Amino acid sequence: MSRSLDCDFECRFKQGPVIRAAFALPTEEASVTVLFGPSGCGKTTVLRCLAGLEKPDTGFIRFGEESWCEAATQVHQPPQRRTLGFVFQDYALFPNLSVAGNLAYPLVGISKDERHRRVSAMIALLKLEGLEHRRPVELSGGQQQRVALGRALIHRPRLLLMDEPLSALDRPSQESLRRELRGILREMGIPALLVTHDRNEALMLGDRLLLMQDGGIQQDGLPAEVFTRPRTPELAQALGIGTVVRVRILSRENGLVRVAAGSVELLAPDPGGLGEYAHACIRGEGVAVEREVHGDPTTRNRLRAKIVGMEPQGALVRLHLDCGFSLEALVTAWACEDLNLREGETVMAMVKATAIHLIPVW
Ligand code: ADP
Ligand code: MG
Repeated sequence: MSRSLDCDFECRFKQGPVIRAAFALPTEEASVTVLFGPSGCGKTTVLRCLAGLEKPDTGFIRFGEESWCEAATQVHQPPQRRTLGFVFQDYALFPNLSVAGNLAYPLVGISKDERHRRVSAMIALLKLEGLEHRRPVELSGGQQQRVALGRALIHRPRLLLMDEPLSALDRPSQESLRRELRGILREMGIPALLVTHDRNEALMLGDRLLLMQDGGIQQDGLPAEVFTRPRTPELAQALGIGTVVRVRILSRENGLVRVAAGSVELLAPDPGGLGEYAHACIRGEGVAVEREVHGDPTTRNRLRAKIVGMEPQGALVRLHLDCGFSLEALVTAWACEDLNLREGETVMAMVKATAIHLIPVW
């Protein structure tokens, strides 16, 4: 019989917001569902309700035939009865126990041999060999989080809940654990619900994405699909899509639509259902910049643009452009240097038609 986690509940904080969640997660296969949204939208609260650390005020949480929470009849199973794994942002290891001791902690009622076998297997899976006898203070952040992950997985939970598990780590540890996490979950066959506000993490790890905003789940789909086709302009902003501009529909031709953004015309894929106006969402990665300003500006989506701001972001630079409307471009720092771009200069911005997503205005 197929077994899923079904929930539909509300959590109301006194003098605080109302957090709502309604979704179903299949728990038969080791898939990763990402709960994504801006800080304060309610992600941790949803996870705490699922884990049994917080009581919803209304609604239910069910796992297959089991009722974990029925607010109406005051049913509330404690966390240990739900057989879940939980990984927090801040490791939460037992400081007085060694790595092996932390890993073995959840294995109560299991023979010594079996306990030893499982701890050794987990140490190998998490690449913690040689660190078995160290205490948490003698480990790096990345190693501590590996132990926390191992401790959550060692009793083979039916579902793993992770609340921004990589956000406290330095970038190299973050990247290596992120690369391995999927393989570890797949190897153990454990489904997971992962809270993050990191877009790369969501795209790399998620099989499905629940997009949360204003205390509720607003969109549910494949991660790449949700990131490229948000349902509303507000969600586009929450997803960090750099440009959201109101446009007027001019004409339709061969699956494309010509729109006016201020005095500028753009061609974009026709999503269907358009009326007179739309919001055009343009991802910064879909905008390229070149120096040549003399070419034919009527070429498809080639816009004359003034650089009004430059924001370095690691290997990338976020360019704020004025091309008749405010346009954001995300270019590599290397390209910026190569083109010797400076604030105040005029460049050509090329917008890929496929980087434009139109949301109808009703
Ligand atoms: P996220 O994890 O998405 O950042 P949280 O679930 O931590 O969001 O918080 C959602 C909202 O609920 C925030 O506005 C927060 O201030 C509020 N909140 C969280 N926990 C409590 C609490 N125990 N009492 C009152 N308000 C709370
Ligand atoms: Mg949180």
